[in-house]
Amino acid sequence: MTEKCGVVGIAFDERDAARPLYYGLYALQHRGQESAGIVTHDGFQQHSHVEMGLVGDAFDEGDLESLNGSAGIGHVRYPTAGSLDSSCAQPFSVSFKSGSLGLSHNGNLVNADEIRDELAGLGHAFTSDGDTEVIAHDLARNLLNEDLIRAVKRTMQRLHGSYSLTIMHDETVMGVRDPQGNRPLCIGKLEDGYIIASESAAIDTLDGELVRDVRPGELVVLEADGSGFDSYQLIDADQTAHCFFEHVYFARPDSQIDGTLVYESRRKLGRALWEESGVETDVVMPVPDSGRAFASGYADAADETTADGEPRAEDDEGVEFAEGLMKNRYVGRTFIMPTQNERERAVRLKLNPITSTVEGKTVTLIDDSIVRGTTSTQLVSLLKDCGAEEVHMRIGAPPIVAPCYMGIDMATREELIAADKSIPEIGEAIDADSLEYLSPDAVADVLETDRSDLCMGCVTGEYPYDIDGEPTDRDVTRPSIGGAALEADD
Ligand code: AMP
Repeated sequence: MTEKCGVVGIAFDERDAARPLYYGLYALQHRGQESAGIVTHDGFQQHSHVEMGLVGDAFDEGDLESLNGSAGIGHVRYPTAGSLDSSCAQPFSVSFKSGSLGLSHNGNLVNADEIRDELAGLGHAFTSDGDTEVIAHDLARNLLNEDLIRAVKRTMQRLHGSYSLTIMHDETVMGVRDPQGNRPLCIGKLEDGYIIASESAAIDTLDGELVRDVRPGELVVLEADGSGFDSYQLIDADQTAHCFFEHVYFARPDSQIDGTLVYESRRKLGRALWEESGVETDVVMPVPDSGRAFASGYADAADETTADGEPRAEDDEGVEFAEGLMKNRYVGRTFIMPTQNERERAVRLKLNPITSTVEGKTVTLIDDSIVRGTTSTQLVSLLKDCGAEEVHMRIGAPPIVAPCYMGIDMATREELIAADKSIPEIGEAIDADSLEYLSPDAVADVLETDRSDLCMGCVTGEYPYDIDGEPTDRDVTRPSIGGAALEADD
């Protein structure tokens, strides 16, 4: 089950954690709109409130008042096809002989079914088909025999896939990032406590200070008095598999992930796009809001050099950057629309052109990605109807040719326009005068990392995990699950 979500965890000395958790979830709303939840602990017992819907709708004043305790975790969940089901809403909370557990998960496990089958065989009863419950049960089982740190390590040794977690064991708040660091997770210092969150924007919202990212394979345990945190590097992997698409589309532009500000990365990707495949047109315009940072970087680079890479002459006015499409902010993400017909209507509802900036002009339209091709097809035709002479499309990421198994709800392979079409064929299908994408190498250069340390499964079709029926781009095998694995060595 795909889980593209936002997680948060907070520990204060005395102050109630519920309200800051609520603000933190608000800051992470873009990571999931299906459900929102908070679990706190007051030193004696857990308090939980989890509802379907947006953060603002899921909690009222009374709900926040009832969430007592200076420690807590929260979660926002992304809507995925066929899973509009409250049984998967999080944080997942449960009481065991070993105490109480709360768990918020962002990511997707490859081997959840194997672990679930094994634990079910040992008598564990599951209430959902989600992989978060599998982690909770496995951890609870390990906690019966071992201390917290060893129990978390043993569970991590059994999981294969992507997970950024905030966990609460009784009133102890922890954060865990999978050994390949697929999804983001960071630590922040607040005035009187500490926070662990999917993105640093949540820390900013609470006037906190970003301390650093949680390292791949690291467990971070917040001190109960809010004075600091302990770090345990539990598993070391040879390579990371950071999701490049977090930088391209998913994360907020004002967040810092793995040391880089997402907005700056997007501007640099835009610059690289101009350098790789710039085309001289009258106007450059973004698809709002996803293409905005890319288009501004692209236009800046176009001011400096021509499309052939030569410095611009002084009397050469270069290209104009303009907003040619206005966005209606009150329309949800087009992906929520279940049918193609509704998706097309939604694009038109969402974006309306400003005729004066396009009429009689050659236009370059910039976006971060093409998934099914709905947005670009609609926009090219809209701009042409408005009198644009030519519409060239430039995309700040490589073609998406394969599905994401690691937590971003992209589309099925059959729906992806690039799965079986070449770039010129896609250009033709969306009726653009030209279409170019950014290369995977340029993405790695901009992110200042090696391609082999990124998860680029959706653009290469080769994954950093051992996924049934799919090729992998590295030497990975999932842990073998079976009764014996429960007794695995440290
Ligand atoms: P499409 O219209 O199907 O080609 O989708 C492309 C548009 O959706 C672009 O404007 C992207 O910014 C946006 N997009 C890309 N990935 C996702 C995603 N996983 N969920 C929602 N929107 C996305």
